[in-house]
Amino acid sequence: MGDTKVWEGERIRANKRWNVTAVLLCLCFVLGSILFLTNMGRQYTKENLVLLDNAAFQHETALVKQVEGDFQTLHGVAVFAGRQDILDPEQLIRLVGEVNEGNAFIRMGLASLTGELELMELGGKRYPGVDISEEEFFRQALAGRDMISEPVPDPYRDGEYINYYAVPVRNGEEAIVGVLCAVNGADVVRAIIEAPLLNDSGYTNLYSSRGKLILSSGTALANGGQPQELAGLAGLSEKERAAVEEALEQNSSVHFNYKAGNTGMLAVLEPSGVEDWFVLCSIPVAALNQRYVVTSAGAMLIIVAACSLFTLLLWRQRRMMNRNQAVVERLAYEDSLTGGRNYNQFLMEAELVRRQDGWMAVWYCDLKKFKYYNDALGYAAGDDMLRRMYRLFERLEQPDGLFCRLMADNFVGLRWYAEREELTEWFSRVVREFHQEESETASRSYIELCMGFYCPDPSDSGLTVNEMVNRANMAQKSIKGESGSRCAFFNETLRQRFQQEAAMEAQGQQALAEGQFQPYFQPKFDIQHGDRLAGAEVLCRWIHPQKGMIPPDQFIPVFEKSGLIMQLDRYMFEQACSWYRRYLDGGGARINLAVNVSRAGLLREDFVDYYVRVKETYGIPDGAMELEVTESLALGGEELLCQLVRELQAHGFTCSLDDFGSGYSSLNLLKNLPIRVLKLDILFFQRSVDKVRERIVVRNIINMARELKIRVIAEGVEETESVEFLRGAGCDIVQGYVFAKPMPLAEFEALLAGSAGK
Ligand code: C2E
Ligand code: CA
Ligand code: CA
Repeated sequence: MGDTKVWEGERIRANKRWNVTAVLLCLCFVLGSILFLTNMGRQYTKENLVLLDNAAFQHETALVKQVEGDFQTLHGVAVFAGRQDILDPEQLIRLVGEVNEGNAFIRMGLASLTGELELMELGGKRYPGVDISEEEFFRQALAGRDMISEPVPDPYRDGEYINYYAVPVRNGEEAIVGVLCAVNGADVVRAIIEAPLLNDSGYTNLYSSRGKLILSSGTALANGGQPQELAGLAGLSEKERAAVEEALEQNSSVHFNYKAGNTGMLAVLEPSGVEDWFVLCSIPVAALNQRYVVTSAGAMLIIVAACSLFTLLLWRQRRMMNRNQAVVERLAYEDSLTGGRNYNQFLMEAELVRRQDGWMAVWYCDLKKFKYYNDALGYAAGDDMLRRMYRLFERLEQPDGLFCRLMADNFVGLRWYAEREELTEWFSRVVREFHQEESETASRSYIELCMGFYCPDPSDSGLTVNEMVNRANMAQKSIKGESGSRCAFFNETLRQRFQQEAAMEAQGQQALAEGQFQPYFQPKFDIQHGDRLAGAEVLCRWIHPQKGMIPPDQFIPVFEKSGLIMQLDRYMFEQACSWYRRYLDGGGARINLAVNVSRAGLLREDFVDYYVRVKETYGIPDGAMELEVTESLALGGEELLCQLVRELQAHGFTCSLDDFGSGYSSLNLLKNLPIRVLKLDILFFQRSVDKVRERIVVRNIINMARELKIRVIAEGVEETESVEFLRGAGCDIVQGYVFAKPMPLAEFEALLAGSAGK
């Protein structure tokens, strides 16, 4: 399976999710910006139209004002002339001069009803016999309307254009008697339409309602001139053309776009308020949009910059995250010593691989005596050796095998096989190459390999890989005591033991609730005072409804592993106290009663509180209750044990050190541990080869204890001869089959009753 990294896929998925999110966010941002810009564009277009309308309006008002002013002057003259019957142009000119000083009319005259006119210039030059009978402005004036003509070439000055103004002249009876005509240079009107439009980029033309160009401004001419007909404007859509025609007809205004050469123009066509003239104001779209383009370019720039910055930040953050994750993954899934996968990773991968076809074995390898190697050569050398071991397994691994260092000097792995022999052969090869390599690197390696295999059968499919590893470990442990490098398979016996233990573990809790555990009492005798009954040790028995009595050796270790032992100890203690209370209430004499305390119970926070509370609840007198702790309890926590013993003894308990002499540190422990009683381990009085040597040891321990004011109990004494020796050596108490075996309560009570009189 190689390096199937379960989290790898997860990380790729996370990165993908991340990318999609980033792209979506950017997209949202860009879309939002585009929306904003289009909206802004629309706003600008609206503003542009208003701008154009305003410009057109200004031109119109200026034009109307000019023309109206001119007509007003003429009206004044016309009224006067009508009343006074003045028909001489010279007089008229003078009149005009009086009515409106500085008037710009260049010529003036009074036409008869038949259209004969004599014009006279301000300078006095006369132009008699002008016939205007066919002119529209004359006819309109005769009909009673003021009128200004479209600009026409001046017949008396080359290249100049003029407008005719015509106003009816009425006599006292309001009858029209003539037409007052005035001539103005077309420049007057042109000057108005040439007023700057939007920073001079635009221009204004005048058209008649028939769409004929009346006057175009100098700028328009500079821009390539304007067609003589409105219909000649290029670049209008059909709709726009129709709208223009309609506006001309209806005397209304219209906006449209057209092309002047290559320049796109935005235009408004509006009735000017003078005659049927229309004002056409045009502005290059580019000039109008310039503001918008600058603003939106700025906005776009900011958006792009913001997007880039955002992406950059996200990218950096992701890079950091990936890096951190890689570190976390390494910590979580890598063994720092070997650099290979750690146990968690192994379990994860193994669970995936096990579903493959084929036979799979789980192996567990322990390096025996590695501790000594470590102690002798130092941790660095120890670590090197573990790394070499790792490389060796790596070298000899199957292409689709899997292994890791579990902890310390333990390795576990999976192997595929067809026959079990393949596994043992592989193990032999591991051992061979290991020693070969070690002889090359280290001076001499005394390390031995101990390997357990677990070959699951189909009925084990419910087991987790971790449970399989446990079984391989059990197989390994079953041969640990044997010398040399060895391997073993998890077998039927182990399986049964395993099943029994599992069953026991499962049943323990219920058995406790149902009271299947009973206290047995093993009496203790004071051999210095006529072998009188001095007390008892309370020992637990499991009276199983089907299996009968189960000895503690079988279930205590299981309960120690599962943690149930703490509850069992407390249960036994309460049973003992409860009985003691009844016994005292029944007038019994004080005896010493000892109960066992396990390591798990001792490490509980409420350990002392609990025992003191129960003792007080039952009113057990001080000095009557003894708690037996084993020296293994002191392992790694001697100070804690000393403190607990002190606290217990301060509360009236006696503490004894059980199984003294079975461990390593017994003698050393005595220096500090303030216990009052020492129980010599059962092994002192069994299977000893040399009785003489045994007795020297025992006698000296007893001496030492007496000097330390510690009482000595000899446990497991089966022979009278030993009792005599112990008596001579100064041992206080004997607890053993030589006097009595552990017995049920009734039997013990009978014994107590029997001894009461003595
Ligand atoms: P232990 O505390 O060392 O108890 C003494 C054991 O030696 C008892 O075994 C007792 O029956 C046995 N024994 C006493 N005299 C002789 C003798 O002359 N010859 C031989 N061959 N054996 C003798 P038992 O009752 O089977 O208990 C075994 C162990 O189980 C105990 O060893 C103790 O460690 C544990 N145990 C028993 N009850 C409890 C309990 O309630 N709590 C805890 N934590 N452990 C208990
Ligand atoms: Ca004991
Ligand atoms: Ca013991």
